[in-house]
Amino acid sequence: MSTPEETAELAIQQLLRDRPDLAEVVKAAVDVRRHAYAPYSGFLVGAALRTKSGRIFTGVNVENASFPVTICAERSALVAAVTQGEREFDEVAVVTDAAEPAAPCGLCRQMLAEFGVDLWVTVIGRQGPAYRVRLSELLPHAFTPGAFEPRPAPLTLTELGDPDHGHKA
Ligand SMILES: [Zn+2]
Repeated sequence: MSTPEETAELAIQQLLRDRPDLAEVVKAAVDVRRHAYAPYSGFLVGAALRTKSGRIFTGVNVENASFPVTICAERSALVAAVTQGEREFDEVAVVTDAAEPAAPCGLCRQMLAEFGVDLWVTVIGRQGPAYRVRLSELLPHAFTPGAFEPRPAPLTLTELGDPDHGHKA
């Protein structure tokens, strides 16, 4: 019997044999996972986000004693990339040690969708890669920047029914 780690390693090797173009981004997610700060859940997550120009930015989940303050690995990676001026991405790899690969949470799907729902998402659990899907499949009918276009002119105070309008001395 092989250990879960060995099983995952074999599955990752299989994935990369089939898709050598994913080697760098997957390896980055696997490697960075050891830096995850998850003292409360023990659920260590590594993410690597690849730009269309080929740069890779990594992130881990960072938990907090005030639980809602916690940030996920995917958003950590995204913030790191945008901070460096990157806004166009083609691939994100997410690695956990869950028995079933853990897809990005709703918050992360939404935040990633801001920069394009065509993003490929490779999700890897300890049983190996289970799937690689477009973000648009994880978050159909996404609320994106396009929702604001065309942007109407702001309402005037009159249109808003300002009670003081026209009644000032
Ligand atoms: Zn998340």
